[in-house]
Amino acid sequence: MSLDSCRALFKEYLEKHDLRVTGQRMAIFEAAFAENSHFTAEELLEKARKIDKSVSRATVYRTLPILIESGLMREVDIGKNLKFYLANNPDEAIQQAQVICQDCEKIFEIPAPFMEWYSSSVSSRLGLTPVSQRLQVTATCDEFRKTGKCRNRA
Ligand SMILES: [Zn+2]
Repeated sequence: MSLDSCRALFKEYLEKHDLRVTGQRMAIFEAAFAENSHFTAEELLEKARKIDKSVSRATVYRTLPILIESGLMREVDIGKNLKFYLANNPDEAIQQAQVICQDCEKIFEIPAPFMEWYSSSVSSRLGLTPVSQRLQVTATCDEFRKTGKCRNRA
C-alpha cells in the first residue's frame, strides 16, 4: 500500500463512520505517517500542530482510536501507563488475521500487524526463516448467545 492509498483508506473510513474529513484529522494523519518510529500522543500533537496550528489535544486523542480501528496504526502498550503509537508502514502489506464466528458463520478480516514479527522471532529461534504465516481464530458470538440475535447473522 502506498501513502496515497493509506490516505484514501483513512478518508473512506471516516466517511463510512459519519466522521468529517477535516484539516485537523488529515494533519494528524500526515504527522503520524511522516514518522518512522514509535511516538506518544503528545509527540504526535506537537508534529500535527506544525502542519495545522488549529489541531487540539482533544482531536489527537479522538483521532488516534480511529486510526487504530481502521488498521492504519497500531498501539504498543509497554505497560507503564504510557502508550506508544506506530503508523503501519505503507510499503509493507498489512497482515490479516481471520476471526471466524461459528454462531453467525461470519468471517472477520482484521489487521494483525504483529503476526509477521511473531513468526519471524519464533522461527529464528529455531534457525528457520518464515515464508508465510496465517492466523485464524474460531470464536462464538457473545451477543447471539445472550440475546439469540446478532446483526451478523444472515
Ligand atoms: Zn454474531
